[in-house]
Amino acid sequence: MKEKRNAAMVCFSGGQDSTTCLFWAKKQFERVEAVCFTYGQKHSAEVEVARRIAEKSDVPFHLLDVSLISQLDRSCSLTNSTVVMDEVKPQDSYPNTFVPGRNMVFLTFAAILARSLGIYDLVTGVSEADYSGYPDCRDTFIRSLNVTLNLAMDEQFVLHTPLMYRDKCGVWALADELGVFDLVRNETLTCYNGIPADGCGHCPACTLRRKGLEEYLKWKEGK
Ligand code: ZN
Repeated sequence: MKEKRNAAMVCFSGGQDSTTCLFWAKKQFERVEAVCFTYGQKHSAEVEVARRIAEKSDVPFHLLDVSLISQLDRSCSLTNSTVVMDEVKPQDSYPNTFVPGRNMVFLTFAAILARSLGIYDLVTGVSEADYSGYPDCRDTFIRSLNVTLNLAMDEQFVLHTPLMYRDKCGVWALADELGVFDLVRNETLTCYNGIPADGCGHCPACTLRRKGLEEYLKWKEGK
């Protein structure tokens, strides 16, 4: 290893998962920086939410524009406003909230940026426990990309995925453990319709977030 592993770069969108990861990283590492991406998403409000949380938490904030991704594939409802969002997962494919290649692009750019700052630990909030089953949220993909990044730059990156096997209830539990339950609940933006905190209430992201929250609050009450 080239230097002490005391710094991490968090892929940060200002949503529930990556905000929980940001505070997880702050516990694990002495120095934490955050990288946020614009990728042609319809709701760029999330960038401002992310910036605000980073500032408040004394975390240097980097914003990278990878919006080329939305020009290459017009089928995604998060980047093309003429596509109606799938509210349920189609049986034989991914919901159209899937952005092909997104996590590979994000993590690759995050690694290039991190390396330039002497950071080799990357943190991402992907999870394979949730319903959509996006291929680039799976552990196999993350491990494979970790090897590829190391080979590509002849470095020893470590990709951390603290949420990989946590469902949304478990993510709420982790936020609470980290002392940021209220911050995550009130200040993050997860909603696909761009509404912060509890969101629009009916998009797939809100439904999942609320279900997890209800489960967690019920569990906590019964403790
Ligand atoms: Zn919503």
